Amino acid sequence: MKNVEGTVSKSKVLIAGAGLGGLAAACALMKAGYVVEVYEQAPKLGEIGAGIQLSANAMHVLNYLGVGDKITKMSVQPEAYVFKLFETGEELQRFSLAAAHKEIHRAPYNQAHRADFHNVLVDRAVELGGEKIITLDKTILGFEEDNDGVTLNFNDGSKARGDLLVGADGVKSVIRNQICGKVPAVYTGDAVWRINVPSDLLPPDFQDPVMAVWMGPGRHAVSYYIRNGEILNFVGCVETDEVSEESWTAKFPWEKLKEDFKGWHPDIQTIIDLAEKDQCYRWSLFKRPVVDNWSTNRATILGDAAHATLPYLAQGAAMAVEDGVVLTRALEQETDIGAALDLYARNRVDRTRKVVNGSDANRELFHLQDIEEMRRRFLNRDEGGYRNEWLYSYNPLSVELI
Ligand SMILES: Cc1cc2nc3c(=O)[nH]c(=O)nc-3n(C[C@H](O)[C@H](O)[C@H](O)COP(=O)(O)OP(=O)(O)OC[C@H]3O[C@@H](n4cnc5c(N)ncnc54)[C@H](O)[C@@H]3O)c2cc1C
Repeated sequence: MKNVEGTVSKSKVLIAGAGLGGLAAACALMKAGYVVEVYEQAPKLGEIGAGIQLSANAMHVLNYLGVGDKITKMSVQPEAYVFKLFETGEELQRFSLAAAHKEIHRAPYNQAHRADFHNVLVDRAVELGGEKIITLDKTILGFEEDNDGVTLNFNDGSKARGDLLVGADGVKSVIRNQICGKVPAVYTGDAVWRINVPSDLLPPDFQDPVMAVWMGPGRHAVSYYIRNGEILNFVGCVETDEVSEESWTAKFPWEKLKEDFKGWHPDIQTIIDLAEKDQCYRWSLFKRPVVDNWSTNRATILGDAAHATLPYLAQGAAMAVEDGVVLTRALEQETDIGAALDLYARNRVDRTRKVVNGSDANRELFHLQDIEEMRRRFLNRDEGGYRNEWLYSYNPLSVELI
């Protein structure tokens, strides 16, 4: 990549946010030879106790970054994706994962613990960029750019200077505000419960190692194993007018969780009954529209900052991971930063919008009030075939950038 004056250089990239997207992008850029500095508002790093699914489209990148095997070893490769009815557990559809996914897409489908995944990325970033790669306790207020570079401004009065800024600062991104205008994040109407149950507390032969989606009127739940099967991860997604904090660490009363899934299948009751009563978390989901303009001449956005989504295709982090590698490739392909940022966004907007819209459509489908209608809809769709065709088959390392 050439800088604005046209001299070929490996520029210095400033990254706002040390979440999954920021760290994956940092690793991809460093692998390509860029100097990277990551700034994170949190005083210490850490992800929460929840699961994350990583399909082949994300695993290609993680393999390329040199962390794929590590993640695969600490994850579960589910046998199948199974769609069930909330009361009876009647199976409406399933499609194969594990060996089939690997054979079709040449990378595994992993279900990981978020903290394990985040730690692996932190370690790799440090390995590639040294101990000082991530600066903590740095809240970004905004940036300024000129022909020579971009300056980040922090709330402690300090500044950082680089050639390019990547806003990986999540759904409430201040970098996005500055690039795209201040459109507030809006409540999606759904809140998500998350609980983890140690697998050894579950009755014998409880749930097969599958990704189970339980669907019912106005809500759905997913249950799957993580961390080599040691933990069963449960996420309960409920439509509610009661907007609460948008925080992974906001606790909610267990009794409310129990009430939200009253009348659901005995397996769901077992999971809820085994949850630690003071370890039930509920998070309200927010979104901002996917826009076309992701960049200025020297700043761009990725991950939730660019395309926050309902997690109903389990692709938010996967998209963030894809973004980082496409951005890196665009910088390598173009001779100036502005053109590279255009190329990057041009190749990401349609895909990410399709994922966001698909996740919205799943909200409608999974939450149908009329169960007969739900049966009919599943009879008329081939979810595995559909996802294999465009979602999981995307390889951000090799897709042509045009
Ligand atoms: C219930 C649930 C389940 C999900 N399951 C999946 C799944 O199975 N698979 C999947 O791919 N995705 C999943 N997702 C989506 C995924 O979690 C997100 O899309 C992903 O974490 C986004 O990563 P990010 O790096 O863009 O943003 P974030 O993870 O939000 O990271 C942003 C970082 O920026 C920092 N930051 C913010 N503002 C500032 C500032 N002003 N200054 C400095 N630092 C700042 C934050 O502290 C944070 O560390 C799920 C989401 C939810 C809610």
